[in-house]
Amino acid sequence: MKVTRPAEPAKDFSTEHYREIVAAIRQTHQTLCFRDLHRLGREVFDIPKFVVMRHDVEFSIPAALRMAEIEAEQGVQSTFFLLQTSDYNPFEEEEAVQIRRILELGHDLGLHYDAALFERLNLDPLATAKAQIDLFEAFFQTRIHAMSSHMPMRSGKTFSIPGVIDTYDPMYLTEMKYISDSTQSWREGVVTENLAKYNHIHLLTHEYIWHPGSWDWSALLFVEVQDKFQRAWKRAENFINMYREGLRMRAEKDRLFKERYMAPGSKTESGSGDSTGKP
Ligand SMILES: [Zn+2]
Repeated sequence: MKVTRPAEPAKDFSTEHYREIVAAIRQTHQTLCFRDLHRLGREVFDIPKFVVMRHDVEFSIPAALRMAEIEAEQGVQSTFFLLQTSDYNPFEEEEAVQIRRILELGHDLGLHYDAALFERLNLDPLATAKAQIDLFEAFFQTRIHAMSSHMPMRSGKTFSIPGVIDTYDPMYLTEMKYISDSTQSWREGVVTENLAKYNHIHLLTHEYIWHPGSWDWSALLFVEVQDKFQRAWKRAENFINMYREGLRMRAEKDRLFKERYMAPGSKTESGSGDSTGKP
């Protein structure tokens, strides 16, 4: 299908335009992820021109992977800040594999945390964010170098953990030019229009608003719901087929189960559940 892209670059949120943006950035600036910033500290300002590549992942792991691939094609590494409290699930098999792929492409992960939710649930924000970081690090066998607050204006709070960069630290907001694509509304034009003006840029982009079809962000939220629905439907079909097969094979499997776990002298330490494969 031929995609009609908006004539005005500031309104063009096609993935093709994102590819062009990354290419333009590379022409003039060095790209950095938060792993680099963690290593460099204030020495980052010795780099004449750089763009910090940050993604706050709001709704869609597949869309995040799409951006990760576009960047990797051009040798760019960025940081994907992930929520553990969105309606995507980083620990679900399909999405976990996609996140692993993002890491394999050379990008790194950050923690995107929802301080307003922590507050609503009366959680200790520091301990909870630390636990979320530990879980990401263990599950994805990686190091988390930075954390970013989800909708900081909602909670009015950001906080930092020693050794982990807080993206809302003034160093990243006032000492660098902070540019965000929030709700497809660039404040001072597309980032590419600002490359000549600013040497040090902190670029925040959001995965779900960049789409091959260059659609409106509000429509894309429903597209994302539809996509999640289809994946959940497919999973349900797979489970139904697996359980039906389990039931069909039940007599045979029960016999094997008894033989393996219930016969005199059999090992029993790993036996749990029944033989149909159900959880
Ligand atoms: Zn967010």
